[in-house]
Amino acid sequence: MIKNYDMPTLTQLFSSGEWSDVFNKLSRTINFELQAYTSEGSLLSSTKEAPLCNFIKSSQIENLKCPSSCMGPVFKSSVSGEPVVQKCSGGLTVFSFPLERSGEKIFIAGKGGFASYEDLLDVLRIAKTNNLPALPAQMPLSFTGMDYAADVARYVHITLNRLLSSFDEKQRTEERFFRMTSLFDSSTFRTLSRNAELLFRYILDTVEFIFGPAPSVIMALNRKTLTYESAYSSGGYGEVISNLQFDAKDPLIDEMYHTRAFVHSQGLKAPASEGLLKEAAPFYLFPVFVEGRIQSIIGIFNTQLTREDVKIMNAFTDYLHLNFENRGLRGQVSRLKKADERFASFVDFSHAITSTLSRERLFQVLLEKSLLLLEAEQGSLLLWDRDTSELVVEARKSVDDTVREMMRLKKEECIAGMVLDRGEDLLVSDIDNDPRIGRENRHRYRTKSFMCILLKIDGGVTGVLNISDKARGDVFTEEDLGIIQSFVNSAALAIERSLLYKQAEELRQLSITDPLTGIYNLRYLNHRLSDEITRYNRYKHPFSFMMMDLDKFKEYNDTFGHISGDKLIKALAVIMEKSLRNVDIAARFGGDEFVAIFPQTAKDDAIHITNRLKEKIEKAVRQESFEMPVTISMGLTTFPDDATSVGELLEKTDQALYLAKKGGGNKVVYL
Ligand code: GH3
Ligand code: MG
Repeated sequence: MIKNYDMPTLTQLFSSGEWSDVFNKLSRTINFELQAYTSEGSLLSSTKEAPLCNFIKSSQIENLKCPSSCMGPVFKSSVSGEPVVQKCSGGLTVFSFPLERSGEKIFIAGKGGFASYEDLLDVLRIAKTNNLPALPAQMPLSFTGMDYAADVARYVHITLNRLLSSFDEKQRTEERFFRMTSLFDSSTFRTLSRNAELLFRYILDTVEFIFGPAPSVIMALNRKTLTYESAYSSGGYGEVISNLQFDAKDPLIDEMYHTRAFVHSQGLKAPASEGLLKEAAPFYLFPVFVEGRIQSIIGIFNTQLTREDVKIMNAFTDYLHLNFENRGLRGQVSRLKKADERFASFVDFSHAITSTLSRERLFQVLLEKSLLLLEAEQGSLLLWDRDTSELVVEARKSVDDTVREMMRLKKEECIAGMVLDRGEDLLVSDIDNDPRIGRENRHRYRTKSFMCILLKIDGGVTGVLNISDKARGDVFTEEDLGIIQSFVNSAALAIERSLLYKQAEELRQLSITDPLTGIYNLRYLNHRLSDEITRYNRYKHPFSFMMMDLDKFKEYNDTFGHISGDKLIKALAVIMEKSLRNVDIAARFGGDEFVAIFPQTAKDDAIHITNRLKEKIEKAVRQESFEMPVTISMGLTTFPDDATSVGELLEKTDQALYLAKKGGGNKVVYL
């Protein structure tokens, strides 16, 4: 039975001060203005109006027809329950969806940046033809595509529902909820994360806050021993809990990997719930995932959690996950330490956007959009290379492509260098009469007016955007400078994200791939073999493992040289990847030895696959005009028929390979 007397309605909630705080935090995280309306259309709560929107409205541009309550029409169309995403008459992306609870319905609306660059240009054009005041300098401009806005709408919907559902619990709900929302502050996390012990204590204190003084523990992965060890514990069961540890291969951990969710004692089969844990049952273990791996586990013992409790814990571990992941990225790319706050909880969205653009393309797009925005014809984007103390031209657009400029410049050689040194943007109206410009630089520009804007990524100045040759020979104005400054500030954020991702991804790839061939390395192979064994223990599907070695490769090297040998090894990797099924894993074991894992494959099928692979490789080598045909030897084993551990499997497969070589090579031997 739901008691209504102490349960606030949505209308009450959304007009309360505490919720406006939640709303503001959420709004800042996603960089969208948020509003809540009753189903009759009266405003319940609103975050600060975006300055741009305010400007458009206050200018009362007739053609834009901005009504004071512009969200009304939007939410009218979203009664279906699905978020509706539209463009408002000012060209900004807006969304709306109904939020329902216990039969009550309100509408949540959000407003982001311009749907596209063209929409901004439209507004500027209309403003100009209506003789309206110029866009104030430093007005923050942002661009949010419709798909992105739809993602944001879903995120807001899920988050609000999650926050609301925690409200539905009877007595302590309100108090617990605000304690939880007080955690939605990444700066606390960041400060604490410098000290693991403090951070763990903070996490457990929070758990205690939410659930009362239940015995609880946080276990962290010890990378050396590959066990999850108790890092901090509180509440009762001192001895039991502080000695608790799980092997990384424990079926319990496996279970969490498979379900990507918590485990609890009732859901477990023996023997996992025996021993130490039996004393403290019922218990719950919540995994905290970081980069796809369980980085730590929060355990709560001798306590029966309600569904709502579990939801709160899930929200909490999600929150930790985002923060840890973010911290991981930061750690890997220490050069770009202080990325924007918004980055903190928005890893998923920004990834979707930035991973689609290569670095080069991003700079070219930034330059071209800037030129379009200011109706300028020429420009370039230069980044400062700390290592060589040079400015590197990353993107360029010129009217006349015969103008060839150097790709790398010393600071003294260009005006951009001077701008970097001074740390100030430069607006030149008349080059002939500007004391800041040396004579030798004047010939570079067709018209007498240009701008240089500092690119600040992560607070440090890292480059310069040059814009020149305004269409029709016009002079650049302070207003132009303001527009481009705002635009560049938003773009810098996107660039920074793309750099972080690119570097983090490269690092990740480096650690699991072989540099010569780009396929997986030995380290990854070992990891995968353990995974396969864990999977076997769970589902009882056998898997097979193959090792192969080129016959007489030394001779090949000696005859045709090492470079030619390398070429053959690279080609082998490509052929293997092409010939194997998607589920199979190919890796370079070292030298001229390669291996493959065939998941869920019993011996008979594996023999067939291996023979086929051998033929394919030999045929491909013949066709690709290598200096001489090669033959290979292969050893094949199956788990669990031939071995019971990773070590034994490697040993037995090596034995099979040895037998193939001993028998004269050019054959497949299986045990
Ligand atoms: P066997 O038929 O018994 O396999 O004889 P083999 O000549 O192939 O000798 P083995 O497999 O024992 O040694 C592999 C040789 O491969 C040793 C080394 O000269 C060569 N090799 C190892 N790694 C590389 C590499 O990265 N590039 C090149 N070009 N050669 C390599
Ligand atoms: Mg060999």
